[in-house]
Amino acid sequence: MPVYNLNTSISYLKGVGPSRADLLKSELGIRTFNDLINFFPNRYIDRTQFFKINQLQQNSSEIQIVGKITNIKTVQQKKGSRLVATFKDETGSIELVWFRGAKWIKDALKINTPYVIFGKTNYFNGLFSMPHPEMELLADYKKNLRTAMQPIYPSTEKLTNKGITNRIVSKMIQNLFEEINGEFKETLSKSIIEDLNLISKTAAILNIHFPQNQELLTKAQHRLKFEELFYIQLQLIRKKLVRKSKIKGFNFENVGDYFNNFYKNNLPFDLTNAQKNVLKEIRKDIGSNAQMNRLLQGDVGSGKTIVALLTMLIALDNGFQASLMAPTEILATQHYNSIVELLNGLNVTVKLLTGSVKTKERKIIHEQLESGELNILIGTHALIEDKVKFKNLGIAIIDEQHRFGVAQRSKMWSKNELPPHILVMTATPIPRTLAMSVYGDLDISVIDELPPGRKEVKTAHRYDANRLSVFKFLKEEIAKGRQVYVVYPLINESEAMDYKDLMDGYESISREFPLPNYQISIVHGKMKPADKEYEMQRFIKGETQIMVATTVIEVGVNIPNASVMVIESAERFGLSQLHQLRGRVGRGAEQSYCILMTSFKLSADAKVRLNTMVETSDGFKIAEVDLKLRGPGNLMGTQQSGVLNLKIADIVKDAHLLKIARSVAIDVLTKDPVLNNPENRFIRLAYQEISRNSTIWSNIS
Ligand code: ADP
Ligand code: MG
Repeated sequence: MPVYNLNTSISYLKGVGPSRADLLKSELGIRTFNDLINFFPNRYIDRTQFFKINQLQQNSSEIQIVGKITNIKTVQQKKGSRLVATFKDETGSIELVWFRGAKWIKDALKINTPYVIFGKTNYFNGLFSMPHPEMELLADYKKNLRTAMQPIYPSTEKLTNKGITNRIVSKMIQNLFEEINGEFKETLSKSIIEDLNLISKTAAILNIHFPQNQELLTKAQHRLKFEELFYIQLQLIRKKLVRKSKIKGFNFENVGDYFNNFYKNNLPFDLTNAQKNVLKEIRKDIGSNAQMNRLLQGDVGSGKTIVALLTMLIALDNGFQASLMAPTEILATQHYNSIVELLNGLNVTVKLLTGSVKTKERKIIHEQLESGELNILIGTHALIEDKVKFKNLGIAIIDEQHRFGVAQRSKMWSKNELPPHILVMTATPIPRTLAMSVYGDLDISVIDELPPGRKEVKTAHRYDANRLSVFKFLKEEIAKGRQVYVVYPLINESEAMDYKDLMDGYESISREFPLPNYQISIVHGKMKPADKEYEMQRFIKGETQIMVATTVIEVGVNIPNASVMVIESAERFGLSQLHQLRGRVGRGAEQSYCILMTSFKLSADAKVRLNTMVETSDGFKIAEVDLKLRGPGNLMGTQQSGVLNLKIADIVKDAHLLKIARSVAIDVLTKDPVLNNPENRFIRLAYQEISRNSTIWSNIS
């Protein structure tokens, strides 16, 4: 008997061959024996249960029935023909239908002989039909030993059309088991298996494909989910440990004049406890000889900017430069202005670098940066251009992280011989379980407290039909001296339509709020940066009362006097976007409002989103709902993460198991960082195998 190993190409498997191998590869990414073994069913069907025809429901999933074919006919149609058989049991009859292979199927079918048929039924004109049923003679069915739980594998239309049915896939896997004698190498240590009461690898693989019963199936799923999550966590945590032990960072031991003078003379308020704690965590990192790689999560308005500034001042105190990068020009400019104001009277040189900085000024910035004269550089993507060279960049802070791709973030590395410390700040709260996976190799700090005195933003959902009363309310607020945002959705696919919506809205608002009593700003993506900036400034200075905008104002903008946020077509926004937008108001002392305008027609998901917004302002709660609605792959900032391509586990449903997997991984690596212990031999082997093929590495996060 030939000896196969699991890396053998699938084309060598009995029943596969080159053309099926190509299909399996292109459709399902299955190349090797091992890939097929790890191709798990996505559900199971109870094949101990039989239906009678008079029990059929209109929306049933796959079912099986025992009965006989009483009649077969070929029906001509425009293209080719269709084969229709009448199938009866003692309670009624249905039609079996074949659109393909009619000729040879017709020859193979036996009349008036008991069959077990299996498939999905359709209902039309009072009659049930089953297209392309799986059929087996009742006599054969009884002879075959079968499992009660029939696995159903993920498939594609192309595979089905090419005749690679579920039964064929199942058969391939059966052949594979025979080929390798159904033995699999254990991949977890004895103590983990015992502590968590897991079944062996061999039993798990066997029962995931051929469940002996429901209990063993559940155990198999549990074990394989754990294993999948465990190895991801092991990689992430190992990466973090390696970074901490191997990647040296600048040691910022000193807290000196820059920091202390600012703290004593310029800090406009007391820090919240959350801000103080985060600062402590950061100081510990940057004074530890290792490179900091920290993610700072804090809801909109929680006060991340001041933390960033204080951190940058520590870099300055140690003779280094600092940078702060933001995703848009508006935000970078706003950071620049507020930081210049905060630093008033201190001897710190700060410059702003964005795409619209003129060549002459740019040259000066480059020079001052290289000579070390410039202490803090704030800007957009312009910061990571190759031309921008620092004398000694000590810390790079990146605001609103989800806007930047991994590649962009990692560019900050190449600015020095030692990597600068990195602090990534995001206002998009990420549920803990998701953060563990997507950012599992980063350290995470959370500002979970808002500065004192904030009033919760009152949020209401209104239909378009109530627009007049909403306008009336806006007038009252404006009369009190407040400012109002009116935001329209911008979704790239239908940019032209969105633009039209915005302009129509602008017109109707202009009519309702006429000059000279009312002044309106408008900002959208098609405007030149200078025009945007001009309109923004008019609103910031209070020259205009209403800001009509697309979501370009989504992130970070801080205008305390703006106290009303109207979101048009709110049903078209995702939860995190709605939350971000609402965060633009409630920044001053006044009671603020958020009004979600929608049409009457709302999907179930849209209703959940709107209700969630009305009910809570807790960013983490909102993120949890978002995660449940959209699944982990669609949340902001997680798209590029290979960590989420899970085969069997589910970050939302298996959150509990994920926590266990993470703590077990931490435990293993704390006791045995390089997996040298004989007890962890299996883990080491499996880990090596996995990390050889792994795609979860990225440079800095
Ligand atoms: P974000 O976390 O959204 O970036 P900001 O840093 O812009 O929040 O802070 C929001 C507002 O709160 C700013 O006006 C800032 O000056 C103010 N702020 C920050 N921290 C405090 C604090 N500890 N006490 C009072 N106000 C604060
Ligand atoms: Mg901010």
